[in-house]
Amino acid sequence: MLYHIPVTTPSPHVPTLLVHGGAWAIPAADAAAHQAGVRLALETGYAVLSRGGSALDAVEAAVTVLEDDPTFDAGRGSFLTSDGRVQLDALLMDGGRMKAGAVACVEHLRNPIQAARLVLEQSPHIYLVGPGAEQFAHAHGMSLIDNADLVLDRERERLAHAQTRQAAGLADITFSGHLLHDDKSPETAFPPTSALDDDERGPESAAAPMEDDPGEHWWKNKSSSPEWDSHDTVGAVALDDHGNLAAATSTGGTLNKTPGRVGDSSLIGCGCYADNLSAAVSLTGWGEPIMKLVLGKWATDRVANGTAPELAAREAISYLYNRLGGHGGIILLGPDGRFGFAHNTPAMAWGLATPAGLHTGLTI
Ligand code: ASP
Repeated sequence: MLYHIPVTTPSPHVPTLLVHGGAWAIPAADAAAHQAGVRLALETGYAVLSRGGSALDAVEAAVTVLEDDPTFDAGRGSFLTSDGRVQLDALLMDGGRMKAGAVACVEHLRNPIQAARLVLEQSPHIYLVGPGAEQFAHAHGMSLIDNADLVLDRERERLAHAQTRQAAGLADITFSGHLLHDDKSPETAFPPTSALDDDERGPESAAAPMEDDPGEHWWKNKSSSPEWDSHDTVGAVALDDHGNLAAATSTGGTLNKTPGRVGDSSLIGCGCYADNLSAAVSLTGWGEPIMKLVLGKWATDRVANGTAPELAAREAISYLYNRLGGHGGIILLGPDGRFGFAHNTPAMAWGLATPAGLHTGLTI
């Protein structure tokens, strides 16, 4: 097989777009903003697909909308580094041409997903970071902005709170689990407890965490506080009417991260992946365990091996928990238009667009 030739799947191709706005405990006060944000992203991305545009253009358009919305941990309004800056990571991948572009640790770009697209189309490389990525984007027409333009007071307060907790020796329990206690312990610090009610589940076509997963829905005994608030990396996966898949993920990373830290979101096969021969995926959650499991590729490989995306999504989140105590969420779309959503966090802002209409929700 010649891998530089685009691979497409047999007809019919039903244009389909899935988006997420992060998996975490979305506070009630922020629920409407999350729903509105994912809906606008769906509308914008699906308009591209509806006029015969490519899956790649659709995911870029959808993620650009989410980056522009300060509700989410992407673009303006992102979580801050430990020294109070916004540092952004983004990746998108074209599953037909098997091309990818990524940027990381950029501080002066309003829309890192657009810089990633430039890397995909215009660079012989796949991944540019820091000032080099910014200079490349600028040389290809993107404006450089002050980092302060990306920083919200809301996030300064959130960082101060996190650093107060840190100084007091309190664990970061943002993404907690219980199985391992290693040097990346924030995701492994808290035991699971209880189960989600059936009436809190989402659409039939979406998937909840596996029933035998001891880690699911442990948050129900938790009271709301800033460290349980939303964790809002954004992503999109799409199938266009030519049968091409694409995926995109964009993030401000984790709260109080060390400057220079890169998470799963912009790493191929971790927080994002697309191949017409398998599936398209975008993940959210604590990046360290997702990276260690190369979870995006793990999920798409399962689809390639015959597992339905709705099941593979659930299995991926169960694997994340059972292997490393990790928590997060996933959107997964196969070349035949079948799809899956799953998360083992209290909530995940999600959206689905097909010719049958647009649907959004905060839990699956
Ligand atoms: N996965 C992202 C990271 O670790 C965070 C998130 O999904 O919200 O950088």
